[in-house]
Amino acid sequence: MSASPPLRELISNCALPANEVRILLALILEKHYQLPRSALLSRDDMSLNEQAFLEWERLVSRRVLGEPIAYILGKKGFHNIELEVGPGVLIPRPETELLVEIALTEIAKLNKRTRVLDLGTGSGAIALSIANAAPLASVTATDQSTEALAISKQNAQSLNLSDQVQFLLGSWYAALTEPSQFDVIVSNPPYIAHQDPHLTQGDLRFEPVSALTDYANGLSCLESIIAGTSEYLKSGGLIAVEHGFDQSEAVMELMKGAGLIDVQAHLDLAGHCRVVSGRKRL
Ligand code: GLN
Repeated sequence: MSASPPLRELISNCALPANEVRILLALILEKHYQLPRSALLSRDDMSLNEQAFLEWERLVSRRVLGEPIAYILGKKGFHNIELEVGPGVLIPRPETELLVEIALTEIAKLNKRTRVLDLGTGSGAIALSIANAAPLASVTATDQSTEALAISKQNAQSLNLSDQVQFLLGSWYAALTEPSQFDVIVSNPPYIAHQDPHLTQGDLRFEPVSALTDYANGLSCLESIIAGTSEYLKSGGLIAVEHGFDQSEAVMELMKGAGLIDVQAHLDLAGHCRVVSGRKRL
């Protein structure tokens, strides 16, 4: 087989949106030629060798079939870090940075060694970005999936945060191995109701179902997590949870019902109520 058409033709003839074409082609250039992304412009008359061209075609067809870019690249940027991701974990979303910011504000206010619990850590996005930004935070991260914990532990190692973040296997608080209370509890649990059509659309089709839905009305995991504050949150401590765009009222009610005070809704970058926080009485 002869060499491929030049890069500029690969770019202009591809069925994918231009930004995605550039991301995937940059990956090929880096992997096969150790060339930086700028080569897409500076070397646009270059052809790919047979091996690189075959891989390019494979990547494009994966994307055409709907596989998320983050899984194809095997990584995703979140807050100030980059995480390895794969089909065993939810792809971190920019909206979730709101949860990280709320935790970081609380840690800065406490201005002492702070114990943070991240329930259902997945790739480790929340736990690791908190640890990365707040050296005073000592973070415990749980997940019921061994596959997810393998990825989050690997991420902790790559980011040099293994000393600051402890990973535990198990469902919500059941993962904790000793009686513990935390200054801050955060979670982005599965909150999509089981019959929600979004589960069969877009990126979600490729993500772990158990990270997306509670197989019930969408509120059952949030409810367990909030109920656990009576035992696992320190007096005066803060809990903040992410939820679906239409669940804010319900989550506020759950927190008030659990005796939490100062219950607040927080807006994400798109202006949707995305996180609710509450505090345990002193
Ligand atoms: N934010 C994700 C979505 O709607 C869902 C994440 C979750 O269930 N925790 O695509």
